[in-house]
Formats: sequence, C-alpha cells, structure tokens
Amino acid sequence: MDPISQAEAAAEYNPAIPEGTGYFASDSTLPFHAPDFARISEDDYIPAFEQGMEIQLAEVQAIIDNPAAPDFENTIVALEKSGAMLGRVASVFFQLTGTNTTDKLDEINTEISPRLSAHFDSITLNPELFARVKAVYDNRAAMTMTVEDARLLENTYRDMVQAGALLSEAEREQVKAINTQLSTLTTEFGQLARDAMADQPLIVDTREELAGLSDSDIQAAAALAAEKGHEGKYAIALQNTTQQPLLPVLENRATREKLFRLSHDRADGTYAVDTRDLIARIALLRAEKAALFGKPDWASYTMYDRMAKEPATALGFMEQMVPALAATQRREAAMLNEAIAADGGDFTVQPWDWYRYANKIKAEQYDLDEDAVMEYFVLENVLEDGIFHMAKELYGLTFERRTDLPVYHPDVWVYTVFEEDGSELGLFYFDPFQRPSKRGGAWMGNFVDQSHMTGNKPVIYNVLNIPKAPDGEVQLVSFDWVNTAFHEFGHAVHGMFADQRYESLSGTATARDFVEYPSQVHEMWATWPSVLSNYAKHYETGETIPAEMIERIEAAAKFNQGYDFGEVVEAALLDMKWHALSPDEARALVGNPEAVDAFERRSLTDLGLEIDLVPPRYRSTYFNHIFSSPAGYSAGYYSYLWTEMLDRDSREWFRQNGGLTRANGQHYRDTVLSRGGTMDYFEMFENFAGRQPDVQPMLEARGLTGSGEEAADSEVSDGELPAGSVEGS
Ligand SMILES: [Zn+2]
Repeated sequence: MDPISQAEAAAEYNPAIPEGTGYFASDSTLPFHAPDFARISEDDYIPAFEQGMEIQLAEVQAIIDNPAAPDFENTIVALEKSGAMLGRVASVFFQLTGTNTTDKLDEINTEISPRLSAHFDSITLNPELFARVKAVYDNRAAMTMTVEDARLLENTYRDMVQAGALLSEAEREQVKAINTQLSTLTTEFGQLARDAMADQPLIVDTREELAGLSDSDIQAAAALAAEKGHEGKYAIALQNTTQQPLLPVLENRATREKLFRLSHDRADGTYAVDTRDLIARIALLRAEKAALFGKPDWASYTMYDRMAKEPATALGFMEQMVPALAATQRREAAMLNEAIAADGGDFTVQPWDWYRYANKIKAEQYDLDEDAVMEYFVLENVLEDGIFHMAKELYGLTFERRTDLPVYHPDVWVYTVFEEDGSELGLFYFDPFQRPSKRGGAWMGNFVDQSHMTGNKPVIYNVLNIPKAPDGEVQLVSFDWVNTAFHEFGHAVHGMFADQRYESLSGTATARDFVEYPSQVHEMWATWPSVLSNYAKHYETGETIPAEMIERIEAAAKFNQGYDFGEVVEAALLDMKWHALSPDEARALVGNPEAVDAFERRSLTDLGLEIDLVPPRYRSTYFNHIFSSPAGYSAGYYSYLWTEMLDRDSREWFRQNGGLTRANGQHYRDTVLSRGGTMDYFEMFENFAGRQPDVQPMLEARGLTGSGEEAADSEVSDGELPAGSVEGS
C-alpha cells in the first residue's frame, strides 16, 4: 500500500467491536461508578466474562488489522484500553469470591479461571500483535513521551518478551512443553505436600502424653484419631510451618520431639512421602526455561520487574544479616538453656523445646494480658479516631460515612473520602468481620481503578477478619488486628493517591518487592503517641491506654528474633539458592535425593546459620510458596524482608523529620504514594528519603546489631496473592 492510500484507509478504519449486554456492559451509574450490588445476580457473571473476553479479542484484532502504521496511540494505548468490560466483571467477581462466596460463585471461579488465563496468554503471545508492539518499541528513541508513557511501552513490550515473543518457533514449543511439565510437577508437589501434612498426624495412645493441652484440644485430638481410624487414641494434625502451634503447651518432652520430627521430616523420605526428586526436577525445568531466554538461572529470569532486579541484590541483602542473626540465635539458645536448667531440666534446648521456654520467659518479663489490652481498642474508634485521624494529620483527608450505596454484605461500611480542599478523592469500603463465606487474612483491592484516561476515581476496599462480638456487646479488637487495620489502610492510601493516566500503572500496581512497603510504614502510626491518645480509650472508663502498656507490647514484640526472624530469613535464602541454580547444577540434584538434602543443608550452614536449633520456616520438601505452582512465590519470598528494610528506613526518616506532620505526609504522597508503578523504585525511594535505602534501621529494629538487645516484629503472609488485590499480615 502506498502512503497516501494507507492514510486514507487508516482514516476510514472503523472496526466492528461487539457490544456487551447486561449490567457489566457499561460503567455503573452510581457515584464513582461504585458497583450496584442490588442489580447484580450470580447468573450475570459467566455471560459477562464470556462477552468481556470476546470483546477484548475483537479489540486486539482491530489493533492488528489497523491499516495505519503502528504507533504508541493506536497500539500501546489501544491495548491498554481493551478489555474494559472484562475488568469490570473481574473486579467485582473476585472480591466477592474472597469475601462473601457461595457454592455457585466457587463453581464459576473453577470454570472461569483457566479460561481467563488462556485468554490472556492468547493476547500476550499473539505474534501479529507483538510485531506492532515491537515496531513501536524499536522506534522509542525517536518518540517524545511522558515518563508514564515510556513506562507503559516498556512494560507492554517486556511482558510479551518475558512470555516468549522473541523466541523462535522451536524455542516457543520448548517453553510450552516446560510450562506443561512444570504445571504437572508443581501440582503433584502441592498434593504430596498436602498429603504429608494431612495423612501423618501425631498419634499417641494416652491422654497423659498430651498433658498441657486444654480439654477442647484433647477432645479434638480424640475426634481426629477416630476419624483417622485410631479409635480410642489421640491425634494432632500438622500445620504447614515447621514449628507447630501446640509445641509450647505440650509438657511431655518426648511428645514434643515426636510432633516436631513428624513436621520437620515430612516429605523428605523419612516417612511415606518424598518430594526431593520432584523439587530437583522443578528446579531443573525452571533453570532450563531461563536458559531459553538467555538467563543464567530462574531468579534472573523471573525478577525482571522487581525493585531488586537481580538475585545477587536480594541474596546480598539477606546474607549481610546472617552473622548477627546467627549470633542472636546462639545467644537466645544460651538464655533458653539457663531457663531449662532453672526449671530442673537436664537437657539442652532443641527446636521442639524452643517456644515452650521462650514463651515462659516472655510471659515473665513482659506480663502481657491481651484481653486487658483489647479493652482499649473499640473497632469504630480504631477506624474513625485512629486511622482517619492519622490520615487527616498526614494528608488532610476527611471521611464521611454513607449508607445510600448498596453493599455486598450488611457488615460493610462505606465512606466518601475528601481532600483537604473539600473535593472528592474516592470511596472507601471497610469490611472488618470474620464470616464463613470469607477467606482468612486481610487484604486491599480496587472496585474501580484510578485513571486519568477513563476519568475514574478510586473505589477501594479493605478486608479484615476480626471476630465479631455477640449482638449488644462492644466490638473490641486485638492489638494485632489494630496493627493490621493500619497496614491495610496504608495500601488504601497508596490506591487513593494514585495519579496515573493508565490503570495498569495506577496505585498499588507496583513490584512484588515494593507493594508491601507503604502499608508497612503506616503501621508505625498505630502506636504514635498523639494518634494513640486520640483513639485508644477504654471502652468503659474512657481512659487512654497507659503508655507503659504499649511499651510492654512493643518490647515483647522484639523478643525471640533469632528464631522468629531467623526462620523467615532461612526460608527466603533457601528459595533464592534453589532458584540461582544453573541447569547443570540443578541436573546434578535430579535422581539424587541425598544430594538434595546436602544442598539444602549447605545452603544455610555455609553461611553460619544454626539450622539444627532454628530450622527454616519451611523446608524445601514442603515449601508450598515456591514449589506448588509453576511460578508462585519462587525467587520472591525475600520480598517481605526487602519491604521491611524500606519500611524501617522510612520510619527513621519520619522520626528525624518531625513525625506525624502534614508536610511529611504530603512529601510521602508526592514522592511515593502518588507514583504508582511509573518509575524506577530506587529512584522513587531516593526522591522520598534523599538517599538510597539503608538496611541499618531494620537491623537495629530487629536487634541484629551491637549487643542485640532489641528486635522487632515481622509480617509474613502465608497465602499467595489473589488477582488484583494486596495481601496483608
Ligand atoms: Zn499488605
């Protein structure tokens, strides 16, 4: 086609895009396009998903068929705009399956999830679409673009390259074959790890062996034994972590050792299940896939969009903590040995004794009564006088409860959020209570993403799982949940202050090793004195919580970090070591289970860690986060530690600059909270703090420097992230 007729064809180009029907076909007509739950029925979802996919495929085809030469607007922006209806149905559907599900919704989820991933693969791996994206990308040096445009272009191109768009046909076939094998092997791993946990409870013959357990725990143990075919005996089910929650209360040391060994040695060939060869094969397939993309190892392949970017950065970050951590582990063990001797014990501490004695020392030293603490935390005060007060002091925000918008459950509260100048910023939904239809944990997400292109303001929800008080009783909240509520609200402001043109870069759409950082920072305000005195008031007397009570909570949270923090660092190191293997190194472990054992041990002991005293939170053979799905959290478990470094360093900045002030809040909003995923994260941090992140405040907070007298709490999520939401504690 000559240039003139091409221009004419482009001008006349008017592709036919099918129109959707039903509720999700267009934006909600409620304020802020809030979901109109009163008008949505369960029967709407499947047709809306199907139409949404069909429309997006037509939109993608229209980009490909466009007779005009590919440019940023007609290719990259057009692709960003595609799939609006699909986005609308997905954002409502996946929030409801998490918070208020039904059998029907679960069925739809099972049916639609694989279809959705196939749908997105068919776009990401479309060679004609990639040809246009690449043409725009290759011309980028000649284009004038905003920083955000440049980021969108780079992400679009990079995600397609990461999926295999630049590979030859033969290589793409190899990737597909590896993906299929990975899917099979990781599913098998997940099932075996589950079997090893579920099928091997501790069985004991007598009640005496379980001395220390409560009557209800004993009853549950008898019921489980009967269920497992051991009528008249007692059974204790294993939990997913290496440490087991009942170990501290079990008085019989032999029972403790049995329970611990069942947990620690599960799936490593000691009992019926052995996943050692499976994980070696998974590691090999991942290394081979990375090699097809020209990367030395899986971590290098998979970390392309992270803040840390390179495995060496994450490894170096963790390894520098090890000497102080190992010293803390040895010091804590010595302290526990003293406690054991004082108790008349003639043994030295083992992992199965650790928490029993650590908890005793903790109770004596800190004298914490969680029920007494709770009496100062009334849910409505925590939200409206604590969290909203913090938001006003830092950001000038105000909140107005509204009851005119439909909600998906009567226990959901809705607020309009206003800027300091009185203009509307967005909507905030707060869903605090545990219920059977809600999954565990806490998270944040968007019903509507902020975007200057669509003109939409953010509609955001926070979900918690606070046990609901009986009718007529004051709703009190544990201190852990108070902290989590501040954390989730940190995600919420990250979403509310989004100031992006494109949804895919908006708000919390940031790297996995960055997204938990703003939320963690907001936990600091839960115990900030002027915030506390505004909300932490006794439910009967109205007295403010005594400062010394908070000091004891904070001091107690710094206790036992050699173990609490150590087991997490060890798991994160194991994850990274497995995924820094070259294909040859991984191949040497296949078919050689003893070599797998040795590799795991060496990975940690070579660094000087005391893994016989403090084993990793998950051993490789049952590390579901990294081995139970094709990618999962592989080469990503360090993220919790990494964001904690950013968090602790930022707290230091706030303290040095006057703490809870409007100016500090504005600075944080301008440099971090309003930036979404539009720029390099190191640069973002430097804009905020005036320097690169420093690990020192985290080490100090954890007691991993100097005498190691101090240490602090940690947050670790045990679940994988659901699509489109941000997980908390
Ligand atoms: Zn979080």
